[in-house]
Amino acid sequence: MDSVDTDVVIIGAGLAGLQCARRLQRTGLRATVLEAADTVGGRVRTERLDGFLCDRGFQVLNPAYPAVRAWIDTAALGLQTFGTGVDVRTPEGMRTLASPLHHPGHALRTLRSGLLDTRDLAALARWMGPTMLRATAASRATRDATLSASLDAAGATGRLRRDVLDTFLAGVLADSTGQNSANYVRLLLRSFALATPGLPREGMQALPAQMAASLRQPVRVSTPVDAVTESPRTVSVHSSAGLVRARAAVLAVGPQDLPALTTGSSLPQQAAAPMHGLTTWWFAAPEPPTHSTFLRLDASREGGGPAGPVWNTAVISNTAPSYAPPGQHLIQATTLLDRPDGRADEAAVRTDLGRIYGTSTRSWEVLAHHVLPHTLPAMPPPLVDRSPQRLSARVFVCGDHRDTGSIQGAMVSGDRAAQAVTGILAD
Ligand SMILES: Cc1cc2nc3c(=O)[nH]c(=O)nc-3n(C[C@H](O)[C@H](O)[C@H](O)COP(=O)(O)OP(=O)(O)OC[C@H]3O[C@@H](n4cnc5c(N)ncnc54)[C@H](O)[C@@H]3O)c2cc1C
Repeated sequence: MDSVDTDVVIIGAGLAGLQCARRLQRTGLRATVLEAADTVGGRVRTERLDGFLCDRGFQVLNPAYPAVRAWIDTAALGLQTFGTGVDVRTPEGMRTLASPLHHPGHALRTLRSGLLDTRDLAALARWMGPTMLRATAASRATRDATLSASLDAAGATGRLRRDVLDTFLAGVLADSTGQNSANYVRLLLRSFALATPGLPREGMQALPAQMAASLRQPVRVSTPVDAVTESPRTVSVHSSAGLVRARAAVLAVGPQDLPALTTGSSLPQQAAAPMHGLTTWWFAAPEPPTHSTFLRLDASREGGGPAGPVWNTAVISNTAPSYAPPGQHLIQATTLLDRPDGRADEAAVRTDLGRIYGTSTRSWEVLAHHVLPHTLPAMPPPLVDRSPQRLSARVFVCGDHRDTGSIQGAMVSGDRAAQAVTGILAD
């Protein structure tokens, strides 16, 4: 065997790369993680701005994800949980839909919202039922279609679908077209049904920070890799910090960065997988425009969807007081990059928020505006949530694009890559 610096080199310290390193460490292999950015987390990052915590794009942690339950100390994260419901701005005014179990006080308002009809409820129960009852594997066995076609076929065509579900899911998936796999969406909705998501006390980046803290060999940050070459017994990884030689390599980069690592190498060329994008505006406000802990959707356009650029918004500090300094408030607003108004300017977003909350936004200050064209990989039907991860004899790939576009998918994919690598190194 040629001399090597480490057993496995992992390129990318997002959730997939970190989980891969953790699993390899548990099997007794030496793993070196190289990360281009100046900190770990990839798409799960948090900025501290004037005492506010602004995640890089509004996102939430669902404690029901099996990977999170298995591998994360959620108690240590101090999850601050959203209310189990949504406020919806409709053409007739503000309506609330809340879980009667969690918010019995909202039961009457929910019933009188005008958004519930028995046909939609029955159709959605049929549509979700098998996935709820038979766990995640059931979704793989169900014939797949686009989200939009699948809901139509199930008979969910009323306002609960159009105003609430479509608007909610567009924000969650960064996709207003409904062209993702229905089976993928069912898996995500199952997690929402099993637990209410929240935000860690120290921001979403506390999740990858916890994962990185358990690595004996610290992640080498600010170390972009520009080439990977493979010989029969080793893989050489060329980075800004020099050459690392390993027995195997795992490319744990996002889909948009994968082509650059495989171009001009002996590895099979990887095309950039399409991704959906969104933008998040973060505002500081002296007063909260509402005390609600629900996500607020705008479905005030006749026929469904928002009347302006903002699809959803929330007073984050109502749910997560740790995200704002005492006496101040933090508001997020999300726009979608697949819409012509996805890059609306501050004035347009403020006007829209003023309408959605029914208040003036003059005293609000912009803290940050995150434009994230690479939020989630497109997941068209049929869902392939265990796609191949071995690129060549000693090089593997992992990330949410090889499983499901989610925190869960990224972690599972990283874990699966580590198991595959362990298998070939044991041979
Ligand atoms: C705004 C937003 C909201 C989201 N909301 C949710 C949500 O609510 N729930 C949910 O489940 N999921 C959500 N997601 C998706 C989730 O964050 C991702 O699925 C997951 O973080 C992907 O992890 P990954 O490790 O696969 O990839 P990434 O996080 O993209 O990690 C790849 C890493 O590789 C590094 N890298 C790239 N090229 C190189 C190179 N040449 N050399 C070294 N390093 C390199 C990158 O810097 C990055 O750190 C959201 C994502 C965004 C952006």
